[in-house]
Amino acid sequence: MSDLESMGVAFHIAGLLIGLSCVVYILIQNRMDKLQKKLYLYMLFILVLNTVSEIFITLITPHRFESAALPDIISFSKYVYFLTHAAMLPLLGYYVLSITGRIMSFTPIRHVIFNLPVLAVETLMLTNPLHHQCYYYDKITIEYHRGWGVTILYVVSAFYIVYFIANLFSSWKAITAKRRVALTYFVSVVVIGIGIQLIFIKLRVELFAEALAFLGLLLAVEDEANLVEPELGVYNRKALQIDLDNLIANKRRFHIICIKLESADSVRRMTGTSNLTALAATVAAELEKFVKRYNIYYLMPDTFVLTLTRDKKEEAKEKALRISDRFNKSWHYNNVDIILSAATILAGIPDDIDNVEDIFNTADSSLPRGHQKCMIGKDSLGYILRRRTVEDAIQRCIDNNGVITFYQPTVCADSLKVYGAEALMRLHDERLGEIYPDEFIPIAEQIGLIGELDDIVLRQVCRFSASGVPEKLGIRSINVNLSVLQFIQPDIVGHINKIVDGCGADRSQINFEITESVDAADYAKTESVINKMKQSGYRIYMDDYGTGYSNVSALFSMDFDVIKIDKSILWGAEKSEFGMVLLENNIRMFRQMRKGILVEGVENREQTELLQRLGVDYLQGFFFSRPVSENVLVELLENGSL
Ligand code: C2E
Ligand code: CA
Ligand code: CA
Repeated sequence: MSDLESMGVAFHIAGLLIGLSCVVYILIQNRMDKLQKKLYLYMLFILVLNTVSEIFITLITPHRFESAALPDIISFSKYVYFLTHAAMLPLLGYYVLSITGRIMSFTPIRHVIFNLPVLAVETLMLTNPLHHQCYYYDKITIEYHRGWGVTILYVVSAFYIVYFIANLFSSWKAITAKRRVALTYFVSVVVIGIGIQLIFIKLRVELFAEALAFLGLLLAVEDEANLVEPELGVYNRKALQIDLDNLIANKRRFHIICIKLESADSVRRMTGTSNLTALAATVAAELEKFVKRYNIYYLMPDTFVLTLTRDKKEEAKEKALRISDRFNKSWHYNNVDIILSAATILAGIPDDIDNVEDIFNTADSSLPRGHQKCMIGKDSLGYILRRRTVEDAIQRCIDNNGVITFYQPTVCADSLKVYGAEALMRLHDERLGEIYPDEFIPIAEQIGLIGELDDIVLRQVCRFSASGVPEKLGIRSINVNLSVLQFIQPDIVGHINKIVDGCGADRSQINFEITESVDAADYAKTESVINKMKQSGYRIYMDDYGTGYSNVSALFSMDFDVIKIDKSILWGAEKSEFGMVLLENNIRMFRQMRKGILVEGVENREQTELLQRLGVDYLQGFFFSRPVSENVLVELLENGSL
């Protein structure tokens, strides 16, 4: 064997080892369901097979005269080599197409055209034993000779490589930077390998170069460890990002289904762990009945996203409904049956959502209270997307002084003179304009910003109060709303005192309103906070009486100064006799309990007179004034319009 030949064997052995290692690694990952992976593995198999046959040929060629069968074995090995090596070309083409995402828009005709050159070459190779135009072995010396068929093979290879490069460039934007580098590396190494081989026919480095190129792909593209959620075996957020970018860059029409698990609490109670992941694995396995595993993405801690790239609108809808239905049944986990509630959202891309960011917004934003179980299309998504923009607006308003306190005066029921005012929050956002509390308060509570908002309002109120202006104009105290969530924070009283005292306000001029919708479990806590607040010098109002399920005996134990009867009770009294009975009796009950009574939502003279007759203490409503800005309030009071 010549030096060059032994070097060739060494290169082939190295290529074989690299190829085998890649095969093993891919098999260990156990993610062979995806076409891209299958293609990669087929190519590796071919590479391994080719290195083996090349090693074999090189090693036995010096002994070819020792046995009559050897020349035939050598020539057969070469035959297998050519047949399989040529098949690598279209596989490689398809592989690139599947990485760039183009494969999904490949029509049957394009498949045919794409495969024609290789079919021609394969036919030529296959029939070589008949015409010997590709290669032949000299009958006497048993030496290998190339024919014009091999030239054709190289021409066709060049065609596929050019195709590969063209495809890569035209999809440049659809793939990640890492994949661009990996694929560029791949082509370069393969081309260099072939180039060397063409120049130095005896230096067999082509397969070694290919093995190196495959190794590069393995590291940068096929190693999915960082894209897979290990406990679930499905893709993660990063994978979703890559795949969505790709689908959208390829202008594909597809659907997504978001599934939000909503039972973190009950899971914790039943399994003793707040870790939803294990249970999510059960769900993931079930979802594989609806879509392929590589179309399932798990976004920690409780959301699945499925991509449906082949289903028509109706099929997608049907799947979403079936998935939603599945959550009516129980899930078996750790020998217990658990009911998981989940919200399912179906969106068409690009009809309902047309960008990746909004897809993630849909998947990430928590749902409005009382949402439907299964939400389909734009109408239900409008809410979610708006919600997300409101979330951003809340943060913007906090950062840019967009949180503004409005004031709505309250009046004494008998004199109808101004008594106090309630501070009502408004958000003034540069992009969304004015946003009202009914929309942003529940969102701020869910994303944990309500405390910051309430603090800002409290500070503004205290500054206003400390200025002495309200007192001069007849406002004895100002009511500040406190979210129930705020109220049960540790040391809320100390926190409030610090703000009030820090602004130099008089504690007796600040009242706090909390709604009655306190969780029964928190009654004791609420009661103690109320007592501490009162000891600190504030007056406490119960807001929205009549909207929840009041536990009247609990109300007794909580020492509210004033009860604010909700406008729905007042309005109900006008509508029916029963409503009137409810209003009258509530007022009587609170009078007997010696509570102050304020009725809100007073919109006309009749209501005012009715409430005066029933003996309530304070009134509030549009009949006297709508909520107005601080300046307008001062103006109204100064010129006596109130
Ligand atoms: P609320 O505490 O019950 O406030 C009274 C709401 O009724 C206000 O709505 C007010 O504009 C409205 N209103 C007053 N009089 C009338 C009337 O005669 N007719 C009608 N139709 N409505 C009337 P707004 O300002 O939209 O506030 C809604 C809710 O948002 C408030 O209900 C309160 O629960 C919450 N909120 C407002 N400001 C704050 C705040 O600074 N912190 C917290 N945590 N919640 C706030
Ligand atoms: Ca209130
Ligand atoms: Ca109220």
